[in-house]
Amino acid sequence: MTCCGKGRQAINMVKTGAQVIGKIAAGRWAPPQTIEYRRQQCSSCSLRTIVLTVEFCGKPYNGRITHIETEGCGCMIRMKTALADEKCPLGKW
Ligand code: SF4
Repeated sequence: MTCCGKGRQAINMVKTGAQVIGKIAAGRWAPPQTIEYRRQQCSSCSLRTIVLTVEFCGKPYNGRITHIETEGCGCMIRMKTALADEKCPLGKW
């Protein structure tokens, strides 16, 4: 990989992080029942990945410029399921 590729990955990671922080700061939380339903769906999903006790949708996000939705988005499930605007990449919720 070239240095430019790594630079783009770093920029993409910062952009994604800023988007998540923006959503959290905006307080767009899903209702508790919605969060519980989403977490139930995720807990039985074959894409759920646990790394050091943290659950992820697929492999943890690592700054990939593109991702394959059928392999999960790489988000932390606990945060993803709590944000109102989030969607399951497989359409389960
Ligand atoms: S968000 Fe969807 S694809 Fe990802 S772990 Fe949850 S149910 Fe599975």
